[in-house]
Amino acid sequence: MTRVYLDNAATTRVRPEVVEAMTIAFTEQYGNCSSMYQEGESAKALLDDARSRIAASLNAEAREIYFTSCGSEADNWALKGAALKYGDKKKKILISAIEHHAILHTCDSLAKQGFEIVKIPVDAEGIVDVDFIKSQLDDNTLIVSVMLANNEIGTIQPIKEIAALCKEKKILCHTDAVQAVGSIPVDVKDLGVDMLSLSGHKFHSPKGIGALYIRKGVTISNFMDGGHQERGKRAGTENLPYILGMAKALELAVAEMNTNLEKITDMRDSLIKEIEATIPYCKFNGHRTKRLPGNVNFSFNFIEGESMLLWLDDAGFACSTGSACASGSLDPSHVLLAIGLPHEVAHGSLRISIGKFNTKEEVMSLVPVLAGIVQKLRDMSPLYEDFMNGRELQQGTCPRCNDDGSCKI
Ligand code: PLP
Repeated sequence: MTRVYLDNAATTRVRPEVVEAMTIAFTEQYGNCSSMYQEGESAKALLDDARSRIAASLNAEAREIYFTSCGSEADNWALKGAALKYGDKKKKILISAIEHHAILHTCDSLAKQGFEIVKIPVDAEGIVDVDFIKSQLDDNTLIVSVMLANNEIGTIQPIKEIAALCKEKKILCHTDAVQAVGSIPVDVKDLGVDMLSLSGHKFHSPKGIGALYIRKGVTISNFMDGGHQERGKRAGTENLPYILGMAKALELAVAEMNTNLEKITDMRDSLIKEIEATIPYCKFNGHRTKRLPGNVNFSFNFIEGESMLLWLDDAGFACSTGSACASGSLDPSHVLLAIGLPHEVAHGSLRISIGKFNTKEEVMSLVPVLAGIVQKLRDMSPLYEDFMNGRELQQGTCPRCNDDGSCKI
């Protein structure tokens, strides 16, 4: 059976050009970038070149890019590094309610060390409340961290506006841009942030490589202590093959940005339209336009996301759900709860994330399969049966019905 990979927000296939760009660092230029002989110096030259190219792709300066082992490390470093540096004077950290666990759990551990974590609410489409941020910025505020684009519902946040507010009050501003970099244009100067996290495996380079942009003039404490790599800020022998791969992948993503944006957005919008036209009692999650090009997220009433996921897998489709067990916890996704979905609706959610290797034909081939699975699961659901019986008897009086009998969700 041919497989259709529709989970590009989880990770992406490494591009052949990226594999090729990495090879030299495994086979010929395998020296340690810190070694003071020819093999080391030529490896260091490749490292410097990759750093400059990554910086150029983000409109940063080379000295503002620090390589990390992944996006999670970059997020940890930004917050814990700021906390360690300035935590004796400032204790309040603002994050959005829909951050990735790399930020949420970092804040859980900072809360245990006495920091006050304030969660910024989001509206029903997942956009943060900027007025709430304004009301919270005070002399005790250490840092504001809001993701550029959400990994579950794809919503793109007003980071430029948030960074400007922070700048006015001399408060640090970090953004987790892990889902955004490589998918939408990202310009650190235009955004005006102090720090930005990125991760290679979201844009067709290998897993296990990321970077933290730290604007020049901004100082945070080290997260990894040891050798003098990364200008003494992040110890550990540089992972040159993966750094070369990430530089190549980002360069290609930026060069192809307009073409990919157009192609992937078209697939996304066609898929959304077709699902809404074909499957009743579904709710589209996130913002219609302020959204990552490849992200589609729906909740299907009366069913469990895990079952949908497993049946889709059997039918050849790889997708993702914010539902309970699939994400390893009993509660449904904090993101879906934060946008106001009731637990039972959030449980029936499906994320489909489209990438540059998908074709429109395969993306659209999901719809009839998904429609069939949703119907089969509903046919087994007592909730659906009750709903259908109730709906026939008292159309318009169900709490989920609009006055005209159509479904609210
Ligand atoms: N932040 C966001 C928004 C993500 O989507 C992810 C990964 O899914 C991460 C951080 C963590 O990145 P990594 O897998 O490189 O640690």
